[in-house]
Amino acid sequence: MPDVSSSAAGPMPREEAPLVSVRGLKAYFPLRRIRLGAPKAWLRAVDGVSFDIRRGETLGLVGESGCGKSTLGRTLLALRGASAGDVLFDGNSVFSLKPWELKALRRHMQLVFQDPFASLNPRQTVGGSVRAALDIHAIGAPAERTAMVEEMFLRVGLRRSHTTRFPHEFSGGQRQRIGIARALVLRPKFLVCDEPVSALDVSIQAQILNLLKDLQQEFELTYLFISHNLAVVEHMADRVAVMYYGKIVELADRNELFSNPRHPYTRTLLGAVPSPDPTVRNMKVEMSGDPPDPANLPSGCRFRNRCSYAMERCSREEPAMAKVGERHHAACWLDQ
Ligand code: SF4
Repeated sequence: MPDVSSSAAGPMPREEAPLVSVRGLKAYFPLRRIRLGAPKAWLRAVDGVSFDIRRGETLGLVGESGCGKSTLGRTLLALRGASAGDVLFDGNSVFSLKPWELKALRRHMQLVFQDPFASLNPRQTVGGSVRAALDIHAIGAPAERTAMVEEMFLRVGLRRSHTTRFPHEFSGGQRQRIGIARALVLRPKFLVCDEPVSALDVSIQAQILNLLKDLQQEFELTYLFISHNLAVVEHMADRVAVMYYGKIVELADRNELFSNPRHPYTRTLLGAVPSPDPTVRNMKVEMSGDPPDPANLPSGCRFRNRCSYAMERCSREEPAMAKVGERHHAACWLDQ
């Protein structure tokens, strides 16, 4: 697979080098195992993915539920092992680090969950949960940590008095603010935001999205923003990667991707987004058939059983990512 990053060959000044580089990353799960033997089948949740995330940008990652987005986000943070490939964070291979080195790096790579309630200890005050991150990483003097937590609560739109309450006393939007405070109190460089607003009321979603944008500016953050909601990604992302059953099938700047989608799957996704102006996004939905069995994906192009343009070659050969425009790559035989 060609390098779909924007970087030129050769060493780059540190400030121009991507913060995150993903190279041929695979995350497979065993499905059926012969007793004491190798697994008979694998779920290829992430199947050879390569891209860069530049410092200060938001890369949106979109695709249907179950396409491997969350697995990719967690593998990228080394929260689970990779089956193959590598992730470079600030030039360091996260899978080659010693445990104490990885612990130190984790401070700079944080996750904002879809459901912060599930990740908060119901018997611990939310201030205590946020402070625990400071305790684990020994950040600040112990006497200063409570003030650091209160300061972060204020910054995410909560009150000092909230730190002494328990998770069940908060609304969904407030809990997400707590989740963001817990991630940011460590002053990370990089956040993976995994469907951070999909569990919230529509009226609250915009508040959280705007908060994430403000915090990105203030703390010079880099985001991988995972969502199945294209409208949310269009609002947040600088560039967008489209994922289909373990593969990135298209990657482009946001405006380019939304105005000139090239992969039939991307066109299908965009055609499914309701627009008040039919001339803006007048693309017919082209997808047919059922989603494939993730454990038994089609040969060749894995989208072929749902693609109106499928041809004989699509069943024989898997298309690689290829340049189809300025800073625009797609994996489809129609463009190669
Ligand atoms: Fe459709 Fe073939 Fe392109 Fe796959 S490679 S998206 S099956 S035309």
